[in-house]
Amino acid sequence: MGYKDRYGRRHRPPPRFLANLKREISEKKWEEARTWSRNRVKGKKYQMPRTMRQNNMVARGPKRLAGRFHQLKTGHCRTGQNLKWTKNSDKAECGWCQYKTQTSEHLFKNCDKWRPQQKIMWAAIRKKTGRGKNRFTIRELFADERRTGAILDFLRTTKVGARVGPRELPPEPMREEEEGDP
Ligand SMILES: [Zn+2]
Repeated sequence: MGYKDRYGRRHRPPPRFLANLKREISEKKWEEARTWSRNRVKGKKYQMPRTMRQNNMVARGPKRLAGRFHQLKTGHCRTGQNLKWTKNSDKAECGWCQYKTQTSEHLFKNCDKWRPQQKIMWAAIRKKTGRGKNRFTIRELFADERRTGAILDFLRTTKVGARVGPRELPPEPMREEEEGDP
């Protein structure tokens, strides 16, 4: 046996710099773990800024509700007036109360169909701001996130922004009858 066979594969301790590197890494890991668990134990949860929390109220809700909220906020909403403008309807009238032009303003303030829900929403807003419904445009109503909760409650309990009224009910059952007959 030559010298190399006997000593070439001898286990050698890892070079010093490697050992140091390993130790540094594991110390760093421990430090991270300690910081993490310390934060957990202290119970200091991360708190979102208020405006972000309120935007989150919209995001957390059902997707459709969030969609209606954003459409009404931006004015790209389902109202009689918009459907007429986009030529999806020949009438702008309110499908619920037959008022001649259904705007979001009408739905939030004056539509007879949603009177109880309007009262609840505007009372909540007056309580917070000291301002009544006649001192808000719809744009202003949506502009301040502190009113998001009241608006979402209103949308949740009405069909505002989802339909323009009963005349717009989907025709599915009729179609089924037609197609079901051989
Ligand atoms: Zn109406």
